[in-house]
Amino acid sequence: VNDILGHQAGDEMLIEVSRRLRGCAPTADVVARLGGDEFVVLLTACPDADAIAECIVRCLNVPVTIQGTVLRPSLSLGLASMARDNVGASELLRQADIAMYAAKAAGKNRFLRFHPDMMTALVQRTYMEGGLQLAVARSEISVDFQPIVSHRMDQVVTFEALARWDCDGTRVPPSVFIPLAERTGLINEIGAEVMARGMAELAPWLSRDPSRSLAVNVSGVQLQDPDFAQTVLGLAEAKGVAAYQLVLEVTESVFFDADCTLIKQLSTLREAGARVALDDFGTGYSSLGRLQDLPVDTVKIDRTFVSMVHTGNERLPILSSMINMAHSLGLTVTAEGVETAAQADYLTALECDTLQGYLFSLPQPGRRLEQ
Ligand code: C2E
Ligand code: CA
Ligand code: CA
Repeated sequence: VNDILGHQAGDEMLIEVSRRLRGCAPTADVVARLGGDEFVVLLTACPDADAIAECIVRCLNVPVTIQGTVLRPSLSLGLASMARDNVGASELLRQADIAMYAAKAAGKNRFLRFHPDMMTALVQRTYMEGGLQLAVARSEISVDFQPIVSHRMDQVVTFEALARWDCDGTRVPPSVFIPLAERTGLINEIGAEVMARGMAELAPWLSRDPSRSLAVNVSGVQLQDPDFAQTVLGLAEAKGVAAYQLVLEVTESVFFDADCTLIKQLSTLREAGARVALDDFGTGYSSLGRLQDLPVDTVKIDRTFVSMVHTGNERLPILSSMINMAHSLGLTVTAEGVETAAQADYLTALECDTLQGYLFSLPQPGRRLEQ
């Protein structure tokens, strides 16, 4: 509210929220604002705290008009009891706080009562986040490469760099640490590390044939950085990699509410010769029809579509339409998650340009590239 309507409106919102909280709490009890958008309600002699919590969630979520704009406050509420757990004041507040975060993670506009398991989950998350913060400095981030092959030419044309994190000797899957890195902003540092390592390890292979390329995954967060494109191009120059040998893989979701920073970053990179690939194509929100407006050169058909091919004798109009449509827009097509020869043949028959998947190779460390 502060950012969109100004501080005056923010103050009005705080006053309205306080009024609603007061209305839910018994008169003898305390409603306080801790700071920012955090409030505490202290119930001293209340037989049914759950009922009050329910009332607060319901009342706060009612729309309010502030300076002519209708807003709907949302909240996450954590509940902790002194009597039940026999804890002191500061511990009580801490438990309520932890329960509040759990409520937020569970999808907002709800309340949750503190449970010791929440503590364990929080400690684990905090521990992992702490570890991830040091991962680059401790050289725990490495890169595996997975080939993308031209089936027709029977050769590797691209390697996709995939981030790996070894935390205290245990490999944490990207599906766990990438979302965490995106939430905390650490993806900027990690993404840069993956790019630098990827370029350094692949430079000799790339230099032998200008048609070869290196693909790197880029998340939406990174594209919010107005210097992103220049940083990438600077890095490529420093590592001796030509810009036209770079492919930036982004998912459809980054275009969902694309702003001008993002489009500008991708345009700058494309003007310098780099290509943009639309990753996991078909799983996001964008339609085939939107493809022609997006600054992309390649679509990577998600493996859920590839996995529809079993025997190779089925009719799959979705797959053929995707490929034909992309081609008619002048885009190249890569199929992901190709695991069987039947799938490879099927896709090649549909004129899919390049294939990637376990059929050809698992992601491997750079030292095994030649193999
Ligand atoms: P992605 O970009 O779709 O990467 C392909 C994923 O599919 C990889 O998983 C790869 O190991 C897996 N894969 C490849 N071939 C096959 C196959 O034939 N069958 C099956 N079932 N899977 C296959 P990985 O390495 O676990 O990466 C998961 C995701 O993490 C990536 O999905 C990407 O979205 C993200 N990610 C990885 N590295 C980075 C990075 O450096 N930056 C960003 N922003 N995201 C990354
Ligand atoms: Ca990818
Ligand atoms: Ca993908």
